[in-house]
Amino acid sequence: MGAVLHTINPRLFPEQVIWIANHAEDRFLFVDLTFLPLVDAVRSQLTSVEKVIVLADKAAMPAGRDDLVCYEDLLAPEAGSFAWPALDERTAASMCYTSGTTGHPKGVLYTHRSTVLHALGTLHSGALDIGRDSVILPVVPMFHVNAWGTPYSAAMSGAKLVLPGAGMDGKNLHELIDGEQATLLLGVPTVWLGLLNYLDSISAKMDSVQHVVVGGSAAPLAMIRAFDEKHDAFLIHAWGMTEMSPLGTVNGPTRELLALPKEERYKRQLKQGRPVYGVELKIIDDDGKELPRDGKAYGRLLVRGPWITSGYYRNDDRSAFVDGWFDTGDVATLDEINTMQIVDRRKDVIKSGGEWISSIDLENIAVGHPAVKEACVIGVPHPKWDERPLLLIVLKEGASATKEDVLAYVGQHIAKFWTPDDVIFVADLPHTATGKLHKVPLREQYANHLMG
Ligand code: ADP
Repeated sequence: MGAVLHTINPRLFPEQVIWIANHAEDRFLFVDLTFLPLVDAVRSQLTSVEKVIVLADKAAMPAGRDDLVCYEDLLAPEAGSFAWPALDERTAASMCYTSGTTGHPKGVLYTHRSTVLHALGTLHSGALDIGRDSVILPVVPMFHVNAWGTPYSAAMSGAKLVLPGAGMDGKNLHELIDGEQATLLLGVPTVWLGLLNYLDSISAKMDSVQHVVVGGSAAPLAMIRAFDEKHDAFLIHAWGMTEMSPLGTVNGPTRELLALPKEERYKRQLKQGRPVYGVELKIIDDDGKELPRDGKAYGRLLVRGPWITSGYYRNDDRSAFVDGWFDTGDVATLDEINTMQIVDRRKDVIKSGGEWISSIDLENIAVGHPAVKEACVIGVPHPKWDERPLLLIVLKEGASATKEDVLAYVGQHIAKFWTPDDVIFVADLPHTATGKLHKVPLREQYANHLMG
């Protein structure tokens, strides 16, 4: 209809919701009844919002609230047909703000054109292999890059789209997966940890699921193995960003991959995969020189393509946009056939005495320990080495392990200088609203841990 859909994350702090809604100049706010208290708390500070529309029928509307519009009332007087405007394909269709894992949220606009092209890009067998018989369950909120574009992919292909609502815990997900016979799941690793742990606890196997797309954060080896061995499901590792609509690379079940011995295949699945058609990748060093595709050299990952943003909404910062390429802020390797592997986010990589340590690699190894539920590695200041890794661990319920156990286990898989300087056991770890580890507060909390 020519309006721009801006999905917003209700789990952000109220100040962030206010900042984002005002920055985006949102005019009409559509909310579920559940979120009304949240809206009431911020309403007076929303400078551009004209109306709040509650997605409920009349009977469910709260009494005495003339300031709210009932969705059904809004629709009732309108005709059943609509004259769609002829819009330029580059008109804005939707927008999302980055989840702010490493800094202030930034707004990204998606056009009709980029949305259609991205959806097309997700469908074919070299990408997410979505077809008319797929039953897709994105356990990804709409505010996280439009649920990774799945509503559009589903509509375009005729696939069935199943939405989880608020029930993202293992039990609810299992019921939904079984009940709807989902074939393709999509989500961040944290969500699948919950599901896998729950399925273990009741010794259940998922039968309908063929593929589990994991992105947003790196998929650990233990998760790749668990989906394969326990549920006969292939974990498709994928990588993307809000700025990329989001899909960039996919590591799907090629014939070559399936022919490998299992352990070797799992290791290959740790890579985030090859670019989907339309997306180009390259890695450069700090001087801007392109680095070889040899699987070893690592550098700043740059991308370009028809569904990658060319700027941020109402933001003059052009530092990430270089000669038509977008600098992702990730550090990666590319191999001879263009398979990409994320080494780390540039802000998370640990610089120890001039050498780099990947927090992602360390975390992946640590969660392979049988007692470890979740692991987080941060670089903290060190008097001699500038920065050293600190390993934070959440243990599985009822499990126990000592610092020495964990270090001995991790030590089998890494170079000696990668060994974390300390292991700290915590009850839980902070996550962003999109389910990613939130390292910023941890780095603050432990800033002096190794300074003596
Ligand atoms: P934010 O940067 O605020 O978390 P996004 O959801 O857009 O917002 O995150 C994109 C970033 O997430 C990527 O630049 C990358 O660092 C990380 N990421 C996405 N997918 C993966 C993956 N499969 N493995 C490792 N990191 C990933």
